[in-house]
Amino acid sequence: MVSVAIQGEDKRFPVRRIYCVGRNYAEHIREMGADERENPFFFQKPADAIVEDGAAVAYPPFTKDFQYEIELVLAIGKGGVEIAVEDAANHIFGIAAGIDLTRRDVQIQARKTGRPWEIGKSFDASAPIGAIVPLKEGFLPDKGALSLRVNDEIRQKADISDMIWNSAEIVSQLSRQYALVAGDLIYTGTPAGVGPVVPGDEVVGEIKGVGTIRVTITDPR
Ligand code: MN
Repeated sequence: MVSVAIQGEDKRFPVRRIYCVGRNYAEHIREMGADERENPFFFQKPADAIVEDGAAVAYPPFTKDFQYEIELVLAIGKGGVEIAVEDAANHIFGIAAGIDLTRRDVQIQARKTGRPWEIGKSFDASAPIGAIVPLKEGFLPDKGALSLRVNDEIRQKADISDMIWNSAEIVSQLSRQYALVAGDLIYTGTPAGVGPVVPGDEVVGEIKGVGTIRVTITDPR
């Protein structure tokens, strides 16, 4: 079973599903040439796409434009359906820094041809995640700087308060579409500044007060 480290604990967080939010920061929607007035939406990655802090990620096949997206990740600790926004924090076990790795060229091609996004988003090792930090006394932070560096050069810099749907709204919306279950992870979308990486690059995502996720891109397998 796929699992993720929990900060300060020996036991690990078993992963059931990985959901991701598309288009949750206005500036990123603009840089992607999409309509920011439309609602964010969800897609999935397979659970075994998880890789943890310090991992080497081989440059994937079938792309010439492999990109990073820093994201806040929510870890569901208590399942439910039609969860109210006010109740959402009670369903979240903890939060983590994650990276939604993307075959951008293939994703855009799929968008143009009206095909599923899977090939662009849901591939091996496409879901790096740092250790999950349990919520302190059920407190769900609604602000916090997030950033991503490639080889120590800043590429993304924003705040989770810039999200169109905040964390509680995301849990509420998603729980109307699927029954949430303990073990589900939700990548909450990325801000502007996405871009490509190549073999040899070191990618470090950070969310203030939460933690970091570091991966190295290596040669194609
Ligand atoms: Mn994303």
